[in-house]
Amino acid sequence: MKCNYCERKCELANGKSFCGMFQEEKGAVVEKYPDKWSTYFASRVESVPFYHAYPGSRSMIIGTAGCNFRCRYCANGFIACQNPDHVQDVMYEFAPEKLVAMAQKLGCHNIIFNVNEPAVSLPSLLRVKRYAQKADIPMGCLTNGYTTQEATRTMAEIFSFVHVGLKGFSDAFYQKYVGIDSIDPILRNINMFADRCHVEIASPVIEDVNDHELHEIAQFIHDIDPQIPWHVFRLLPEHNMKGSLYPNIERMSLALESSRKLLPYIYFHNFVGSDWVNTLCPHCKTPVIKRFSLGCSGDRLDKFLAPDNICFVCKTPIAMLGTKVAWDANQKKQKGEQTI
Ligand code: SF4
Repeated sequence: MKCNYCERKCELANGKSFCGMFQEEKGAVVEKYPDKWSTYFASRVESVPFYHAYPGSRSMIIGTAGCNFRCRYCANGFIACQNPDHVQDVMYEFAPEKLVAMAQKLGCHNIIFNVNEPAVSLPSLLRVKRYAQKADIPMGCLTNGYTTQEATRTMAEIFSFVHVGLKGFSDAFYQKYVGIDSIDPILRNINMFADRCHVEIASPVIEDVNDHELHEIAQFIHDIDPQIPWHVFRLLPEHNMKGSLYPNIERMSLALESSRKLLPYIYFHNFVGSDWVNTLCPHCKTPVIKRFSLGCSGDRLDKFLAPDNICFVCKTPIAMLGTKVAWDANQKKQKGEQTI
């Protein structure tokens, strides 16, 4: 029997799968480790980074183990690239209702699946979604986009905001650095997500490897919707690429500058003090959302100058899912409820 969650379409008959998270049981594809989580903590939505969804909000970050990719530079390789059988002693087991209750207790406005690929834990995430929906907690995720069409539709039902990794723009890049044959399913799924939910896109840039593909990526995003935010990450030498160079900030900034004509919401991450983490009004270019960059430790909201998602200078709308949410909004709400 084949697994249909991602485009690897593993044959499960021999008890093995690429991600190690599914098995065949009585003629069905089932999770090996349902409701087991590697991660749960409260963080800022900007740290993920989502910049155009509920700015300022507190997110509960969750993750599991295993992945359908083997990126040479994976920053989470310690959990994503391990055999899930070997990390079960460090996993937490929480029923979906408990996970949602913890998000509420931590005062989180939303839940975001980060760390590894959500497709390898989709049945558990579907169960979390049922309780999150009842509690009025939106869910988001980061995905590599290498899912089947069926799984992509399911993900778009679970997650109202999705960050898709577009790591390069050629089969050759994905073959060499990620370990899959073709980029096509990822491009198809970005279109599918963009039709169904809020999308942001992330691209790691490796100097002299994929920086020449940046403008093509910008053009691809522009052709879907120029309002889609694009996050470019300076790739840090990690995992199996510890010997690579830190990309040159000035050179990458220059390359990105030319893409600004195509995409008004471009961000450049992974160095402290980046000006590229602010949102400029697409019309008058005034910074309307200011953020701090803490380098690879994440970002945070500084000033939100777009009340009702409108530029305070020229009144141009700023593309946004929801609007600003105070970091302590849920605590204040809970206190208010208690005093009534
Ligand atoms: S989700 Fe895992 S088991 Fe299913 S096809 Fe992808 S890698 Fe294979």
